[in-house]
Amino acid sequence: MSDQLDCLVIGGGPAGLTAAIYLARFHLSVAVIDEGSSRALQIACTRNHAGFPAGISGRDLLGRMRMQAIKYGACIIDGRVRQLDRHGAGFFAQGQDIALDARAVLIATGVTNRRPPIDEALHAEALQSGRLRYCPVCDGYEVTGQHVAVIGSDARAAKECEFLRSFTDRISLILDGRDGLAEPVAKRLASIGVRVIGGPAEQFALEANGLSLSTAAGRLCFEAVYPALGSVIHSELATALGAAVTEEGCIKVDSHQRTSVAGLYAAGDVVIGLDQISHAMGEAGVAATTIRNDLASSCPRFR
Ligand SMILES: Cc1cc2nc3c(=O)[nH]c(=O)nc-3n(C[C@H](O)[C@H](O)[C@H](O)COP(=O)(O)OP(=O)(O)OC[C@H]3O[C@@H](n4cnc5c(N)ncnc54)[C@H](O)[C@@H]3O)c2cc1C
Repeated sequence: MSDQLDCLVIGGGPAGLTAAIYLARFHLSVAVIDEGSSRALQIACTRNHAGFPAGISGRDLLGRMRMQAIKYGACIIDGRVRQLDRHGAGFFAQGQDIALDARAVLIATGVTNRRPPIDEALHAEALQSGRLRYCPVCDGYEVTGQHVAVIGSDARAAKECEFLRSFTDRISLILDGRDGLAEPVAKRLASIGVRVIGGPAEQFALEANGLSLSTAAGRLCFEAVYPALGSVIHSELATALGAAVTEEGCIKVDSHQRTSVAGLYAAGDVVIGLDQISHAMGEAGVAATTIRNDLASSCPRFR
């Protein structure tokens, strides 16, 4: 591909692929570069994504979206963008066997959940069987009435316990750090019946009735375990260009998904918001339409 692309999309999860479908259908030239570690690939079966009453696996959903993007002319490349630089009014992206010039760039690189110490094979098996979960908004419904553990020590982990409390009254918070909880937080959790257990949580094993783990209170088994250890936000390509980010590292955008760098847009989990497929798709639709309109305002070809 030697010509300048109208838009390069970095990341091929729900956000990046939605944008690619829209952009290709606007008759723009678009390529998606994707490293292949979408959070959606970890979803054994999503049951809250509208339009799929029987649920759909994240892998199947992404496969359908890829097909749809390719059908309208988007080019999808497996790989990682290691560097993104300004190049005239546009951008130049580089990686192994990647050198692409684009008028506009959409960053849809997502986030990665921090994991407790579980080896890769067990992690995959526990996710598949619903014993390990990362998203109470997505699947709190599935743990209704179950014996649930949340792992974490900060205000976010406490909030996750509070959120889950409307699904079950059998919740334990397993502390992962050396520090205890702040007193008001501990009081609040006690008042809603959350049991606080010393950590660290380690030596995980799948049992017939749940996921067992070692704690300071001995070995315990839960029907579902939610790590709430925060995320690594993949905003480094944007920050290297000077884009503004939140304290946590999420890319700041305006109401049309424009970053603070002209020509650079962002959508999905990498932007602050509800980390959900529907939200990622919605932001990507807005971003793609903004990209089309911004390009049109500066290029006679679009008029
Ligand atoms: C276990 C689990 C269950 C979930 N269940 C649900 C659910 O039921 N319903 C729901 O709505 N949401 C669910 N989610 C959340 C959902 O998966 C995310 O909100 C969604 O995937 C975000 O889409 P995204 O496109 O922003 O990011 P992602 O899907 O994470 O995609 C980002 C992509 O960018 C790629 N990338 C990153 N950096 C680079 C780079 N430099 N170069 C090239 N590629 C790069 C990554 O490899 C990845 O493929 C779940 C998440 C998890 C972890």
